[in-house]
Amino acid sequence: MSRSIQRSLDSNRQAPEQVPLKAMPTEALADISVWIFDLDNTLYPPSSPIFDQIDRRMTAFIAEYLQTDAANAYKVQKTYYRKYGTSLRGLMKEHGMQAQQFLDYVHDIDHSVLSPDPELAAALRRLPGRRLIYTNGSEAHAEKVLHNLGLDGVFDAIFDIKASDYVPKPHDLSYEKMLQSLSVDPTQAVFVEDSLKNLPPAAARGMKTVWLCNHRDTSGVGEYDPTQCDAIIDDLTTWLENVTAGGKSH
Ligand SMILES: [Mg+2]
Repeated sequence: MSRSIQRSLDSNRQAPEQVPLKAMPTEALADISVWIFDLDNTLYPPSSPIFDQIDRRMTAFIAEYLQTDAANAYKVQKTYYRKYGTSLRGLMKEHGMQAQQFLDYVHDIDHSVLSPDPELAAALRRLPGRRLIYTNGSEAHAEKVLHNLGLDGVFDAIFDIKASDYVPKPHDLSYEKMLQSLSVDPTQAVFVEDSLKNLPPAAARGMKTVWLCNHRDTSGVGEYDPTQCDAIIDDLTTWLENVTAGGKSH
């Protein structure tokens, strides 16, 4: 699917309220040597039928696990997501659930619905410095997503939910573990995320923050001021191309 068709599909999903984009001055990125990216709905657009599959499998798992109907399971899923950062964390905290079984089940999806994105691959490869994935999902899921997007070998490391001892973004401990584990100096790092709620803890540690506003994940919207982010963007590849082109602003 071409980028323009993809973008017009995405625009159909947009919430009525438009968020003004925000550019980042070139000099703000001068010292950046580590480029950190969220995975789901960041490296691929929310119109890709990936996260919907995960969402449905989470509901099915919770319905079975809590022996309840789908409507109630969905309510629990979303309540825990808002309260704990991930539905998984809520199930672990409130029901003592083991993480691995849940992760294996919810990520057992058809990743082949993603197609290679050579423009994104080229833009990422042009970034100077290390490229990292920081996800609340599993490493196995991340590897499949990257493979299907044609991004094998593009990233230097994946920091997943297991590496974070199942403590997800936006909990402070997760960022501390990520920075330590991957030896990242936060003042030299930029973090790109579609979930607004996951950006303030990164900013608090000195990272530059970029909100990819795709209107899918609204958690944090209305709670945090998006203008506190260093940049607000609506297309990752376009932004990366501007960054590496050394334009006047990013
Ligand atoms: Mg995401």
